[in-house]
Amino acid sequence: MFIYADNAATTKMSPTAVAAMTPYLAECYGNPSSLYALGQRAKDALENARETVARLIGAEPREIIFTSGGSEADNQAILSAAAEGKKNGKTHVISDAVEHHAVLHTLKKLEREGFEVTLLPVDAAGIVDPAAVEAAIREDTCLVTVMTANNEIGTIQPIEKIGEICRRRGVVFHTDAVQAVGHIPVNVGQFKCDLLSASAHKFHGPKGVGFLYAKRGVRLVNLIEGGAQERGKRAGTENVAGIVATAAALEEAVAGIDGNAKRLIPLRDRLIAGLSTIPHAALNGDPVRRLPSNVNFCFEGIEGESLLLLLDDRGICASSGSACTSGSLDPSHVLLAIGRPHGVAHGSLRLSLGEDSTEEQVEYMIRAVGEVVAYLRGFSPVWRDLVAGKTQFVL
Ligand SMILES: *Cc1c(COP(=O)(O)O)cnc(C)c1O
Repeated sequence: MFIYADNAATTKMSPTAVAAMTPYLAECYGNPSSLYALGQRAKDALENARETVARLIGAEPREIIFTSGGSEADNQAILSAAAEGKKNGKTHVISDAVEHHAVLHTLKKLEREGFEVTLLPVDAAGIVDPAAVEAAIREDTCLVTVMTANNEIGTIQPIEKIGEICRRRGVVFHTDAVQAVGHIPVNVGQFKCDLLSASAHKFHGPKGVGFLYAKRGVRLVNLIEGGAQERGKRAGTENVAGIVATAAALEEAVAGIDGNAKRLIPLRDRLIAGLSTIPHAALNGDPVRRLPSNVNFCFEGIEGESLLLLLDDRGICASSGSACTSGSLDPSHVLLAIGRPHGVAHGSLRLSLGEDSTEEQVEYMIRAVGEVVAYLRGFSPVWRDLVAGKTQFVL
């Protein structure tokens, strides 16, 4: 059996998106900035894609800047709001402890440049309290950045409430919606956000393409200087094929949101119920305010890394958290933020379902994870001490 259960790390491209992209690689390969017909056909395709993407999130075409992915969009959004704030003497930024590293590391950079960053805590389910956002806003706050849905534990934030507060208080609001776009309804008008980041490879589009929504009137800084592409805000010959595929993938993903939720939520909840029967295991994140695809557990007395390797032997592609932290020995900052102790945070497992997931796969994963966890505990010194009562169980 081969099971791909790491759709939060990346997704398989949809055949529709692949088909949409190929003509722009091999036949219609003109540069959109060229004046002859071959270039103008590429230009038309680019602008059609912009219209599609804009329509699907409730924006205007001119409010969409195509980027190299979610990380670039996050960087550009945050650095733009910060630059604008600095001009007006506002150097305070509000965010939270469970953001993606593309946001957290950009905020670190701002701190090195003299900005003050307030990282709000989250509750045990990973939710940011809108009242805490409101309370943290100061005269000199230039940006609030809170993600729409968490990539590790799937928690969906009260984005509309936070957007409402920011709009009322006149503070620029950015949301990293990379895990949300194409998976749950996303509308920039309802979110009341000024800036929003998305990435194509998280919704069955190609890797290396994403977009930034910037509400009309919000000034952007360039991360890449050069030509006048993307309204002068992102230089470099456009990734026409990738952008066309992004629009095709998003069109398909948005059309499938309701159907997928209906199919995935019961599978997700069956997987959660099955894994919950493993002793000293606990679900991470909120059981209800949760992405339809996301399952994340902690198992006491084991190492996440060994769990992943043994699951790979059984044909299961899974993750211990974010793709960026697996491979390093630091426990996930998200699991620490929701209150999991260091030792427990190390034994985490994220299974993220996708369009191809089936009941049969879910039952196979429940069995496999149960067996592998029991096997690993069999020779874990940490588990031995827990069972002997030398240390206390926390789960
Ligand atoms: C994947 C991801 C990113 C980064 O997107 P890339 O396109 O891989 O650069 C940013 N934020 C979140 C929440 C993500 O899941």
